[in-house]
Amino acid sequence: MRVPLIAGNWKMNMTIPEAIELVNGIKIGLRWPEDVDVVVAPPFTSLKMISEIAKDSYIGVAAQNVHQEEKGAYTGEISASFIKDAGANYVIIGHSERRQYFNETDELVNKKVRTSLKHELTPIVCVGETLEEREKGHFVEVIEKQLSVGLEDLTKVLASELVIAYEPVWAIGTGKVATTTQIEDVHEKMRALLAKNFSQEVADSVRILYGGSVKAENSKEIFALPNVDGALVGGASLNSSGFIEIIKSLPSK
Ligand code: PGA
Repeated sequence: MRVPLIAGNWKMNMTIPEAIELVNGIKIGLRWPEDVDVVVAPPFTSLKMISEIAKDSYIGVAAQNVHQEEKGAYTGEISASFIKDAGANYVIIGHSERRQYFNETDELVNKKVRTSLKHELTPIVCVGETLEEREKGHFVEVIEKQLSVGLEDLTKVLASELVIAYEPVWAIGTGKVATTTQIEDVHEKMRALLAKNFSQEVADSVRILYGGSVKAENSKEIFALPNVDGALVGGASLNSSGFIEIIKSLPSK
């Protein structure tokens, strides 16, 4: 059985004091949930601090990006070993904002995924189509390519450790949520692709999150979908009570 995962992507928000207040708010506000993994993704500057606060709790910590190379002359970049060293155990890879503003390709996503797995960081690999791709009707091909190239040549063992997030670009930060039919349709196709590219066991164990304008008002119906295993939450994760409400809306198993 897949344990649901709810991750809060804080993006380029939260100074160190704000980040501390937010993570403490989540820690205090939520009783230790046994049947869900909760993850927060603070900016690099507070990664170590937040990891220390989260250490004796149920909260996992993610970096929002990683450099594909191990080390060296890459001024300004952060390696997988630095992230591990700071105490984090997950890393968000290929978020649409990185694809859009920093030209990240599926090939680069693949390199980052491999480097992260080598350092025992769990990648949260993001895929999703733009509005234009959805309207033109070839969005399934776009997502399948992102997934196939992004996860190319991984062993079944490594692939089964991944978390994938389906985030339609047109639903991120726009208040426009995909319909439950649209979400389940894509999640089902993604799981079928994992079965084809890897194995049924891999498809059954990988958690597929939905992301894009998730908030307490819409999370319950999204979480009720059979192929949705949680959410990657942006805006609504910047407030501890809103984030806790989302976690609480998971169906009790
Ligand atoms: P949003 O962002 O919840 O603010 O739409 C989601 C994301 O970018 O991961």
